Amino acid sequence: MKAVQYRKIGQRPEVVEVAKPQPGPGQVLLKVTAAGLCHSDEVVMSAPDALGYELPMTLGHEPAGIVEELGEGATGIEVGTPVIVHGCWGCGVCEMCAAGKEMLCLNGMTSPGLGSDGALADYMIVDTPRRLVPIGDLDPVRAASLTDAALTPYQAILSVLPKLKGGTTTVVIGVGGLGHVAVQLLRELTGTRVIAMDVTQDKLDLAKECGAHEVMPSGPDAAEAVKKLTGGRGAHVVFDFVGIDKTAELAVACAGVEGHVVLVGAGGGGVKVGFFTVPSNTTISTSLWGGRAELGQLVTMAQRGQIHIQTRTFSLDDVPKAYQLLHEGQIIGRAVGVP
Ligand code: NAD
Ligand code: ZN
Repeated sequence: MKAVQYRKIGQRPEVVEVAKPQPGPGQVLLKVTAAGLCHSDEVVMSAPDALGYELPMTLGHEPAGIVEELGEGATGIEVGTPVIVHGCWGCGVCEMCAAGKEMLCLNGMTSPGLGSDGALADYMIVDTPRRLVPIGDLDPVRAASLTDAALTPYQAILSVLPKLKGGTTTVVIGVGGLGHVAVQLLRELTGTRVIAMDVTQDKLDLAKECGAHEVMPSGPDAAEAVKKLTGGRGAHVVFDFVGIDKTAELAVACAGVEGHVVLVGAGGGGVKVGFFTVPSNTTISTSLWGGRAELGQLVTMAQRGQIHIQTRTFSLDDVPKAYQLLHEGQIIGRAVGVP
């Protein structure tokens, strides 16, 4: 079968032929129907140590597929069921997993495409049926990226939801795969006013289509513009979906007193937290991926037409080109590989 692999540190991903995997005891074999491309894959491929992952590794941690075969003893799902895969593969036993926070597993979360073989292939192995979320008749191309591009901003928004009261202002920095869903979720879940920022006009146009009240270029004047729009107060909540020094600093500069800055982007940057460097009583938090229950909630929201992931599809052969476009900032919404 075909697979898109990251094979050698520093090289671009390649399309290769590999053996079709067989499900072991308790495992599930999925016939992949779609798999989203995430900027985190770029983070892995630009890290000097591939974040410690063993290579070669099939990429893709946003899987949609159809249950093809159940390994010995695997139960709870029927062959032929269309599903998406919750990618936070925790132990299921520790305190965090018990609380439904498998992304914070104390025994170390693994994920398909981030440490083990992922979904950008004709078939993939899922370690246990409990990762699977049935999607009914949702289009798999639209549903695949619910697993991360929607789940991650959803969990980040839930973490500050009580602060997003009526009359508040929220800033979203970076309207890419995650950010364009964040804007939609903020509009669906809250009464906050959404100000979205990005570096190109086409991303700002997408933000508007997704429901942003105001859009503006992310740059040296953006924080001042937010202060102006809020009568000098500053934003109540700011999400940084880029995560470089420049955007983290911008996020803090946009926040008002008692504000909350949520750092989601994994761009390798951050901000200096200190009594005189952030507005008084500001909270700064990070947010990693999301839970399986929350993924189920997003599937229902997608089925009700409350969120739409903007997609651009690529054949597996063209996925390396898609990663190049993602790298250059030229994907609007989410790139999705379709076997
Ligand atoms: P993406 O490439 O689709 O989107 C990033 C967006 O940021 C693009 O629209 C780009 O134009 C914009 N951008 C770049 N520089 C900017 C700047 N200076 N100011 C404003 N906007 C800027 O990426 P994505 O897949 O949405 O991922 C976003 C980030 O989140 C990545 O760092 C990724 O690794 C990370 N991520 C984190 C988690 C998590 O669990 N916390 C999960 C998935 C992805
Ligand atoms: Zn991701």
